[in-house]
Amino acid sequence: MTLATKSYAAQSPTSPLGLFHFVRRDPRPDDVVIDIEFCGVCHSDLHTARNDWGRTAYPVVPGHEIIGRVTAVGSEVTRFQVGDVVGVGCMVDSCRGCAACGKGWEQYCEKGASYTYNGKDRIDGTPTQGGYADQIVVTQDFVLKVPDALDKAGAAPLLCAGVTMWSPLQHWKVGPGSKVAIVGLGGLGHMGLKLAKALGAEVTLFSRSPGKEDDARRLGADRVVISTDKAQMKAVAGRFDLIIDTVPYEHDLNPYIPTLATGGTLVLVGYLGPLQQVPPHTTALVVGRKSIAGSLIGGIPETQAMLDFCGAKGITADVEMITMQGINEAYERMLKADVKYRFVVDIASLKAEAAA
Ligand code: NAP
Ligand code: ZN
Ligand code: ZN
Repeated sequence: MTLATKSYAAQSPTSPLGLFHFVRRDPRPDDVVIDIEFCGVCHSDLHTARNDWGRTAYPVVPGHEIIGRVTAVGSEVTRFQVGDVVGVGCMVDSCRGCAACGKGWEQYCEKGASYTYNGKDRIDGTPTQGGYADQIVVTQDFVLKVPDALDKAGAAPLLCAGVTMWSPLQHWKVGPGSKVAIVGLGGLGHMGLKLAKALGAEVTLFSRSPGKEDDARRLGADRVVISTDKAQMKAVAGRFDLIIDTVPYEHDLNPYIPTLATGGTLVLVGYLGPLQQVPPHTTALVVGRKSIAGSLIGGIPETQAMLDFCGAKGITADVEMITMQGINEAYERMLKADVKYRFVVDIASLKAEAAA
């Protein structure tokens, strides 16, 4: 089987994404071949396409919020059949032998997880390429079952944005009575509001954008705090058990620390890099036994648990559907926080594009 694949790739940090043909690896006995129908657009796709993290190998096909149907399975595949609706998130493999993998924390694999794009296949070393493509080949252990109840386009963003919020909510044991705040109402943030609310927490949104208040309440926020308004920040002093910060760029954490309850934790998921402009002041941490932590996506078992939870509760992302050809414009809008609240590419538009 030769899997000639049509996709959209970035060829350099400054070139727009465009049509790119390549061959997926030959399916192995434990592989599932997936015809991609929808792929969410994560801010990490943009960071990678533009080499914001300094480690992009070009050409790169982004996309790690993948939903599609199984079109073929290898001889050893037991968990999936042709026709199943399935998902693929940020990882396509890990070492499967280390302590982290043993706990189902493949994202923290001691040998490094294999990412869906801008990674390397563990067996043949070829570059991995993501979901802005018409098909993908993934070992069955990294393929997720998507509950029938969920709208397929709306389910795509659960594979990254959903689980990235779910994992810290679970790790810090959020449930009824918890007081949770989310910083930033974008793709991750809107899933954070929905999931924290569904888990029974009291939920607050910190946003720079006053215009998002009505949406935030509809999505599950009990309260909206404009983070640049000192009086509003003071009114929530000492309140939160957990704050999940999704802001993609360096920013001052100090205004948020006083809003943590004693023993509370501020979890960074958005920005990866040094805090140089205004480093966090440690006194506020020490005096209130407060923590600053980080969290990376989620493992495969918790991704499945999150999908099953969303299936039972009817939770999906709020999606703005775009064509593959509209991806460059979508990136510009994402930079302006002008998306309500996740772009999802209808991969039918890619399949229909005439050969260049
Ligand atoms: P997004 O849709 O662009 O949302 C980010 C939100 O942050 C914006 O809507 C905005 O909300 C706020 N914001 C943006 N720029 C800001 C700035 N300069 N200062 C303050 N607030 C700002 O992005 P996303 O897809 O949710 O991703 C968020 C970040 O998480 C990205 O950096 C992405 O790479 C990262 N990420 C991390 C993981 C992980 O595993 N840790 C997983 C996925 C993504 P308001 O308008 O409400 O302020
Ligand atoms: Zn992502
Ligand atoms: Zn491992």
